[in-house]
Amino acid sequence: MEGIVDYKIARKRMVNEQLFNRGITDRRVLKAFLTVPRHLFVDPGLGSKAYDDSSFPIGYSQTISQPYTIALMVQALQIAENDRVLEIGTGSGYQTAILSLLAKEVFSIERLKVLFEKASKILGTLKTGRINLKLGDGSLGWQSRAPFDRIIVSASMKEKPVELLNQLTDGGRLVAPIYRGTENIFLFTKEQNGISQTKIAKCSFVPLKRGEA
Ligand code: SAH
Repeated sequence: MEGIVDYKIARKRMVNEQLFNRGITDRRVLKAFLTVPRHLFVDPGLGSKAYDDSSFPIGYSQTISQPYTIALMVQALQIAENDRVLEIGTGSGYQTAILSLLAKEVFSIERLKVLFEKASKILGTLKTGRINLKLGDGSLGWQSRAPFDRIIVSASMKEKPVELLNQLTDGGRLVAPIYRGTENIFLFTKEQNGISQTKIAKCSFVPLKRGEA
């Protein structure tokens, strides 16, 4: 059985080898990854392997994303302390916890009840920032709590997320994986004269589903 110290060491190694050495240099982002106990969001049998350079199954054909992928997307968002952030696809809740340490408030939607309940439970036991979880289809965003300064989508979309972009503040940023023959993470920025988009990296996410589960 591994102790708290082993997990702390594993976390430090993850941050240095998988994140910093690959170009994640935002200090606030790195600090959040040093803080959040990833081992609590995966199968307990994994032990400190929870900090490996990998995604893992979390049940129901879903996965907790690879730390580097999350870091890349979160760094691209450039979250400021006062930002309100919307996350589509809570999954394990790991990324939700990371986001909550960087933003003022996080709103996160998960479509699968079992995962929603599991994430609520774990996040409730941790010292995180302000988190609001919702069960349902997040593909159309969270209209009653909009607009958001930042939006992050954790499942693969087939087209430009027009409805979500409508829920973004001016100057807001959105990152999402989009599958069009190949799959890439895109960054959208809402500017005075429209939306600009940049391709950040190739990726592989589970598909975003439409409608209730
Ligand atoms: N960042 C999460 C990724 C989880 S995988 C983590 O690291 O744990 C993507 C999640 O998106 C899955 O839990 C899946 O159930 C959820 N999902 C898929 N379509 C959705 C939708 N339309 N609305 C909300 N959640 C959705």
